[in-house]
Amino acid sequence: MSKEYKNFINGEWVDSVTGETFENRNPANWDEVVGVFPKSNKEDVDKAVAGARHAFKEWRLVPSPERGEIMKKAGDIMVQRKEKISRVMTREMGKVIAETRGDTQEGIDTAYYAFGEGRRMFGQTVPSELPNKFNMTTHIPIGVAGLISPWNFPMAIPTWKIFPALTCGNTVVFKPASDTPATATLFIEVLLEAGVPPLAINIVHGTGTAVGIPIVEHPDIDLISFTGSSQVGKIINEKAGKSLKRVSLELGGKNAEIIMDDADLHLALEGALWGAFGTTGQRCTATSRLIVHEKIYKKFVDLLLESTQKLKLGNGLDESVDVGPVVNRGQLETVHSYVEIGKQEGATLLCGGEPDETGDLKKGFFYKPTIFVDVNRNMRIAREEIFGPVLSVIKVASFDEAIDVLNDTDYGLSSSIYTRDVNNAFRAMRDIQAGITYINGPTIGAECHMPFGGVKETGNGHREGGWAVYDFFSETKTVYVDYSGKLQKAQIDNR
Ligand code: NAD
Repeated sequence: MSKEYKNFINGEWVDSVTGETFENRNPANWDEVVGVFPKSNKEDVDKAVAGARHAFKEWRLVPSPERGEIMKKAGDIMVQRKEKISRVMTREMGKVIAETRGDTQEGIDTAYYAFGEGRRMFGQTVPSELPNKFNMTTHIPIGVAGLISPWNFPMAIPTWKIFPALTCGNTVVFKPASDTPATATLFIEVLLEAGVPPLAINIVHGTGTAVGIPIVEHPDIDLISFTGSSQVGKIINEKAGKSLKRVSLELGGKNAEIIMDDADLHLALEGALWGAFGTTGQRCTATSRLIVHEKIYKKFVDLLLESTQKLKLGNGLDESVDVGPVVNRGQLETVHSYVEIGKQEGATLLCGGEPDETGDLKKGFFYKPTIFVDVNRNMRIAREEIFGPVLSVIKVASFDEAIDVLNDTDYGLSSSIYTRDVNNAFRAMRDIQAGITYINGPTIGAECHMPFGGVKETGNGHREGGWAVYDFFSETKTVYVDYSGKLQKAQIDNR
């Protein structure tokens, strides 16, 4: 019997109003059902929003250091449950256990950061232009936050949103991706045990259309934080724009690693393998383009091929496995269709290019790590987000050309350059159009206390992570205190 899960709405674990359900299966073995979840709709969302709205009246008045202490307790509970959570995560979305442990750890780190931030939430005091007057800003909570997350970081991304949303004094209606509802549910259990008031946190399972859109359009939801594809982000921005909701969008990427002729090639190789095939290439920050200087191109491609062929595919719970499955059949088909496109466009397939159905792998959705060489910047495989284990290698003749190729994309999330030339490193920091640039590191490796997000079609300018996300989840209130005892007219009396 597979475990039956529920929504948590208005302080109670409940089925959806229709009683309908959906299954969540293991992508490494599709016969294995991880759990059965409520298939919810707008009515469920309405109830959750009513609960969250009610809870906001009291939660907004709890001092933020006290709210932060609850987040700290949540972090402590997650430390105890790290292994359990990580194993469930691997079963429901496939990435290898070392990476799901990292995903859970990012949630723990984010909890402890929230604990500190609860005592900070700095406003500013600024001199007034008039005598006997005091000016300052403070942070105030906004209201009910609608949070929608993807499946590739089932714990880290929900924690990036929920910990700051709650610490800032908002209440939450959360819709996780329907490929990863079990990890999300474990997180809600942690929050409730830590002492978050039950009405302040609601989880509603279901599809983007049936649950996501009602959240975005709900008149009683004040802000939306969404992480997912650029395609869906545009739909959300348009719908939320009708009521001028505050919206944070963290979207797709087509990230590149530049390898210059003076780079430490073995370091660059490790970075490329980790960036391209970690999380089976299903990271928003995955390295999907390698931009390699012509002087070391052949040598580097030979090293890359040799190392890629050694990667072991399999069930992510096996500690010896390097690469897990892709998340579902749809994703496998998308990846394969891009491989066909790459071949038709004239790129040379160096390795991979097909599903791996050896032995037990045929029970799941495994795709061989794939490398295309002879790729040019105009090919679709060099421009569109594939979100799978496919790496496109592009040859360039100079540093300037490398930067130009890197920037020649609609996206702008992460980027990386391997070079030992300090001048080129600083030019890259300045000239690369991306929210994140790594020098001598892969395109992946975010730390929870640093702002995270991208430019161009990767988002709408907000950032998750660090102090920046606390600005998104609170309003700035400007306060003037006039203790002169008389009417003072700014710009008039003093000029
Ligand atoms: P997705 O856009 O398909 O779905 C994301 C979430 O939105 C899911 O919960 C989904 O159910 C919901 N959704 C789908 N359609 C909706 C709609 N019309 N209205 C409201 N909600 C809707 O993305 P995905 O496949 O889950 O995740 C992969 C994508 O996420 C990739 O593009 C990846 O780059 C991106 N991503 C970005 C970041 C980042 O921080 N920039 C991080 C992780 C993933």
